[in-house]
Amino acid sequence: MTRILNEIKMMCICGNGEKVTIYDSVNVTNDPQLLEKVMKKIINMFICSKCGKNEQVHTFLYHDMNKKLAVYCYPTVRAMNYDSLSRDKGRKEAEQLLSSMGTDIRVVVGQDDLIRLIRDYNN
Ligand SMILES: [Zn+2]
Repeated sequence: MTRILNEIKMMCICGNGEKVTIYDSVNVTNDPQLLEKVMKKIINMFICSKCGKNEQVHTFLYHDMNKKLAVYCYPTVRAMNYDSLSRDKGRKEAEQLLSSMGTDIRVVVGQDDLIRLIRDYNN
């Protein structure tokens, strides 16, 4: 299931504001049109139209039910908080459910790694 948390307005350091749609999970089996967004690296990305600054602002779960692949994609800037994130209760429950369905659960930091994994998984 694809889950959108909300749409938030974020301020850039340059003073410009942009709206960002925050996805909690992206299911490319149910919503194949989202795969294009994933491959363009724009899921949960704050992109400033004024100064060009861009960064991922929220972790999301990429889920391909056909390939039984689930990937947690963490933002690179929060990589240091790995321990606290891995103790997240919601994540544990989601993992148990995915495991019971025989899903391969991976973790990546940054969307470049996510795309590499998706591409490699196809081959
Ligand atoms: Zn800016």
